[in-house]
Amino acid sequence: MSLDNTWVSEAMDATGTAFALKGERVHEEQTPYQKIEIFKTETFGYLMTIDGCTMVSTRDNFLYHEMMSHPALNSHPYPETVVIVGGGDCGTLREVLKHTEVKSATQVEIDERVTRLSEQYFPELCDKNDDPRATLFFGDGIQWMKDVAPGSVDVIIIDSTDPVGPAEGLFGLKFYRDCIKALKPDGMLVQQSESPLLHLTLIQDMHAAMKEAGFAETTLLHFPQVIYPSGWWSGSIALKKAGGLIERLEHAESLDTQYYNRDMHRACFALPNFVKKALAG
Ligand code: SAM
Repeated sequence: MSLDNTWVSEAMDATGTAFALKGERVHEEQTPYQKIEIFKTETFGYLMTIDGCTMVSTRDNFLYHEMMSHPALNSHPYPETVVIVGGGDCGTLREVLKHTEVKSATQVEIDERVTRLSEQYFPELCDKNDDPRATLFFGDGIQWMKDVAPGSVDVIIIDSTDPVGPAEGLFGLKFYRDCIKALKPDGMLVQQSESPLLHLTLIQDMHAAMKEAGFAETTLLHFPQVIYPSGWWSGSIALKKAGGLIERLEHAESLDTQYYNRDMHRACFALPNFVKKALAG
């Protein structure tokens, strides 16, 4: 079946897969970092793509943003200082700020245009940008992590594009070493780690690099994400200190979420056999 130009599609040669939505392009620009396009779709609201890869849609972004935030924050004893690397659509920032114990949340996005276009096309994701606890910093997350005061961050959320272009270094040993240095002793990192089905080798490499950098433990969480390749996505958690994840779920039901709750928190860490096997040892 071939698609005519009433469809927006992301075709991934590397995995031999494609995803398509019916819709039309309403904006296109090349920034110094990447090509950003916005589409108005028939059934998923607005869709942002970066360099041809789906990033965020009105209809299903809640899955990703909630699951990149709440499981990690509710697995940390006192997440007061949070840093989001990437995340320029501001959806993760919005979820992080739902936690009253968070005292500061800094979003470090390399491309200011992603945020400005999100304010225009996804205003609901930006409705917490004026929160006094929020800082929107525009610059490279790799450099930011090198420069931040050691031992000053509780939770690092890496909400980046795929490991190519400006995001490539966010998946490497040097960056993970800087993250460990930035974290307080109880600190943790969570990073979007693509599809368990299509990108298992990448996930294995990430966990190996996190451990080589000095993180004591790593684990995976997973969730559905319709607009991403295979429709199934993951986040990788790395703990600075050994001892496993704690469960701090007393406020889980009052977070005003669409997907996340106490049961989904527990379910997202349950791993299928092929993933367990791949990550063993
Ligand atoms: N949810 C998306 C996904 O998993 O495909 C990610 C969305 S978010 C829009 C990704 C952001 O990471 C982009 O806006 C991009 O500009 C940003 N980014 C990429 N490399 C970066 C870097 N080195 N420092 C800071 N932000 C970066």
